Amino acid sequence: MASGKSDPLIDEFEFQELEATTGEAGAGAKGMEAMAQAYSVALGGFKDFCLKPELTRSIAENGFEHPSEVQHKALPQALLGNDILAQAKSGMGKTAVFVFALLEHIEKPPEDQPRRVLALVVVHTRELAYQIDREFVRFNRALPHCTTAVIYGGVPFEECNRHFKDPKKIPAIVVATPGRCLSLINDKTMDVSHVKYFVLDEFDRCLEDIRMRKDVQEIFSKTPRTKQVMMFSATMSQEMRNLAKKFMNNPLEIYVDQQSKLTLHGLIQYYINVEENAKSRKLVDILDAVDFHQCIIFVNTVTRCETLNALLRKCKFPSVGVHGGMDQAERIKTFDLCKSQNSKIVVATDLFGRGIDINRINLVIQYDMATDADSYLHRVGRAGRFGNRGLTITFIASDTRSMRSKEEGAEKGKQKEWKDDDILKDVQSRFEIQMSELTDLSKLDKKQYMTQ
Ligand code: AMP
Repeated sequence: MASGKSDPLIDEFEFQELEATTGEAGAGAKGMEAMAQAYSVALGGFKDFCLKPELTRSIAENGFEHPSEVQHKALPQALLGNDILAQAKSGMGKTAVFVFALLEHIEKPPEDQPRRVLALVVVHTRELAYQIDREFVRFNRALPHCTTAVIYGGVPFEECNRHFKDPKKIPAIVVATPGRCLSLINDKTMDVSHVKYFVLDEFDRCLEDIRMRKDVQEIFSKTPRTKQVMMFSATMSQEMRNLAKKFMNNPLEIYVDQQSKLTLHGLIQYYINVEENAKSRKLVDILDAVDFHQCIIFVNTVTRCETLNALLRKCKFPSVGVHGGMDQAERIKTFDLCKSQNSKIVVATDLFGRGIDINRINLVIQYDMATDADSYLHRVGRAGRFGNRGLTITFIASDTRSMRSKEEGAEKGKQKEWKDDDILKDVQSRFEIQMSELTDLSKLDKKQYMTQ
């Protein structure tokens, strides 16, 4: 990873002396939710979904015993072929809804017929695409016709094109990021004219970025008119919901949780008021004082990610950095390292802010406060996943607004101004969280954030 540039805002202090110890449901939504429940069969375990025996077996082999609430509510609908717009807390099993539905829907084609791309899953980052592809592979072992391919940018075209060369080996399910997906469709490498299922995960993120939205719209328009469309996210503004519905046919809207209750139960959330030039020392104090399995530290720019990671390494902390400026192969390598728990500390930009599921993470530190309340929610959702416990600590700085916003502006090509404190207030009012200030690290109770 290139780390030539350093960030003047990340304070250099004497590291040598430090030894590292290592929706609301809208007006009509209540009715729709009731309808969803009426459709749902009484569910005890996954067996009750009456899935293909191969799939039921593989679900059990992977240790899934009981469906989560979103699975309970959305999977029966997905299996019925309904269009779905589903909101549920991050980390509560949305992925399995569409993974299981697609593995169930896709039938073995007759031997003499060419293979076709039948399902497209589109997501906003390459790592999320990679992670979702791995989820399909985890559950498709006994369903060899449910072949998958992951395609994303940042790698040579040949790496993507090879999946489509042999008509007998065309993948049934393609997980992709929008740009490369569209290129492969436009240059006729990938034929999507037989697609029957279209999934957009973290859809609000895909649709709020104008360029990504254009790509998604174009991909969508190249697939057949009749298809099942499913969209998922933990966060969705009314505007994004309305936009999403334009892609769907009378979708079933499933809101598992009210907007205001979207943070995870097992998460303990704190903030610390800290001046910019004291952040690094405070961070080291936390890493020394808190017992954690894996920790993710969010910063707001590529440069800060590289600088902070370099500082932590210099201080002998086992940290890795990951951001969008890295070479793609390096990014995936780092992602794998994190997943396999070989990276105890990950310094990341928002590249890892959504969807990424590393279940040993039980400490999320926002060295830089998120730039909006939704991002805050997604970032802290990297800990406390699927019933696990977790701790999040957010640094609230008062003295950096103009400098940071200037730097952010330079990186994103636009000027953006925010105040950490305002975002904190927004988070607290929108998500009904009462965060307290953490003034004494010794008061933290390990039992509250460590799942054994
Ligand atoms: P997701 O929200 O889809 O990223 O899922 C979060 C984590 O929960 C992943 O590690 C899943 O493998 C896990 N998970 C999802 N559903 C279940 C389930 N029903 N039982 C056990 N683990 C699950």
